[in-house]
Amino acid sequence: MLRHEGTERPYTSPLNNEHRHGTFHCAGCDQALFSSQTKYDSRTGWPSFWQPLEGAIGTRRDTSFAMSRTEVHCSRCGGHLGHAFDDGPLPTRLRYCMNGVAMTFRPASA
Ligand SMILES: [Zn+2]
Repeated sequence: MLRHEGTERPYTSPLNNEHRHGTFHCAGCDQALFSSQTKYDSRTGWPSFWQPLEGAIGTRRDTSFAMSRTEVHCSRCGGHLGHAFDDGPLPTRLRYCMNGVAMTFRPASA
């Protein structure tokens, strides 16, 4: 998908196939960002979520490409995580399209 240019290539992150219960953390500062309960298969090749954890992320309008989109970063260290789009599933209709390399996964039962 052209609008993902500038991010990692699709289907390269092992987090795409991470289906255990747990939490996705910022690779930069280890802050918890997303619960596995909000992860879903967007069929884009990137780990996708429909809702972040409370206060975990910051957003900024990104108009560097022809279309505007929302840049998503960690609220604590400011590390770039990915982008948010408004074509996600219910209940939020949001799609947080994340770079796999920007996150680490921690299983709930570990
Ligand atoms: Zn961080």
